[in-house]
Amino acid sequence: MDTSGCFLCDIHASVPRSSFSCRQCGASLDLQDHIFSPRCENGSTANNYPNEAGKQLSVLEETSLWFRHRNEVILDLVEKYPPSGPIIDVGGGNGFVSRHLEGHGFQTVLVEPLAGGTSIAQSRGLSKIVQGQFGELGCVRSIHAVGLFDVLEHLDEPGELLQQIRQALDPGGLVYVTVPACRWLWSTADAFAGHRVRYTMDSLYHLFHSCGYQPVHSSHFFTTLILPILLFRVIPTRLRLRRDQSIRSFEFELPMLLRWVTNGYLRVEQQVLKRMTIPFGSSIAAVFERR
Ligand SMILES: [Zn+2]
Repeated sequence: MDTSGCFLCDIHASVPRSSFSCRQCGASLDLQDHIFSPRCENGSTANNYPNEAGKQLSVLEETSLWFRHRNEVILDLVEKYPPSGPIIDVGGGNGFVSRHLEGHGFQTVLVEPLAGGTSIAQSRGLSKIVQGQFGELGCVRSIHAVGLFDVLEHLDEPGELLQQIRQALDPGGLVYVTVPACRWLWSTADAFAGHRVRYTMDSLYHLFHSCGYQPVHSSHFFTTLILPILLFRVIPTRLRLRRDQSIRSFEFELPMLLRWVTNGYLRVEQQVLKRMTIPFGSSIAAVFERR
């Protein structure tokens, strides 16, 4: 049993080489094949994210403008409001965000229920990986920061997860979050991705406020995606023309010239976001603080 350090609550801890329990945050993890798992008898790994979609996403992530831009927006947010400890990337999927944050000097821990996601994350070079749900880790205090990057929209009861996280966060602890925005942009692409909802700024604020958080920063982003989503997803869905159930990134539906223009626009949007908030866009990025 290794009790020398805990990568969940201690930014200076190295990756333990055996199972461990942490007296500081309460976590209790087993280690097998370099991936940790919660020591939890009644654990449930049920979730609403299709495993096949996760595999397809791992291919898309490496080439997609959407994932590249979201990573840059998240990194800018974390740099502007830095955490005081490791960021627990809850529902972190294939580790695409965690790898980007780690590459820029931030400590992360990937927490992902699906074995497909954790094995891809491992192959991407991440070493602090827990296969499981946040509520199974046993963390009850001393956590500094959590990332929920396009996670909340998959949950029937997002408030339950936010309350579990709040219990584990130190006062002033941060939650970085991204969600799909604009309810009127709902299409078959949302349903296929396992989304339960698209958020408005008001509904996101209300959710976090009711769970004991206060806003630190928020903005829409992906302003340029509203028109393509309307044209290629929402209108075909409303007209019942869209039957394609494959998961594709929006830009692969665009002609090459438009893709090139979109790429340039997203880079401009990233620079604008560093200086101001944007009132519309197909996603929201926000930081909330534990009250
Ligand atoms: Zn700990």
